[in-house]
Amino acid sequence: MNPENYRAICEELKPHHCRLVAVSKTKPVEDILQLYGAGQRVFGENKVQEMCSKYEQLPKDIEWHLIGHLQTNKVKYIAPFVRLIHSVDSLKLLAEIDKQAQKNNRVIDVLLQMFIADEETKFGLSEPEAEELLISTEYTRLQNVRICGLMGMATNTGDEAKIASEFAQLQSFFKKLKTSFFSAQPHFKELSMGMSADYKIALRYGSTYIRVGSMLFGER
Ligand SMILES: *Cc1c(COP(=O)(O)O)cnc(C)c1O
Repeated sequence: MNPENYRAICEELKPHHCRLVAVSKTKPVEDILQLYGAGQRVFGENKVQEMCSKYEQLPKDIEWHLIGHLQTNKVKYIAPFVRLIHSVDSLKLLAEIDKQAQKNNRVIDVLLQMFIADEETKFGLSEPEAEELLISTEYTRLQNVRICGLMGMATNTGDEAKIASEFAQLQSFFKKLKTSFFSAQPHFKELSMGMSADYKIALRYGSTYIRVGSMLFGER
């Protein structure tokens, strides 16, 4: 754990009204407890089993965010406690989250993961796909999920102008949805973008959650 980086990032975020998701994937619970001791409460994991095991072992006032690709058959394991799912990329997944949320007598907050990078390996929806999902009858029937915003991952590149243009594109689509589909829903306000290498750029484009791992916990 790197306490200097942690304090520096927290200071940097203050004027932006942006929150930090500390990405603890592959890191042991001892590392998480150290950052917890420094005041961090929001942690992000990309694997269901790992998140469940850490949830069991760690203080219950931690907010657990699922940031990685989620398979429908695993939603049930995290439905009782997950605070925000950043990575919803299909209507089928959204419907399953709704079903499991209902079983747990709760509403689960999610973000739609948008495909913004110039890489084939990254998951996410295109803009037309997201709009199609939002106008579908099936989506309008869901009662136990709440779409709170969008998430995206920029291309892994040193080209800052390219990263900036991808974040700008995501911000502009976010604003478009906010004034069209979600105009009556104030909870649609989150934009999850920015990781260790590019969060400074994301802050310029209205990010409300940055997801930072290696800068806090060291290389994986
Ligand atoms: C691992 C991961 C991060 C954090 O990456 P770092 O480069 O370690 O900051 C952020 N978002 C997602 C979706 C990830 O899988």
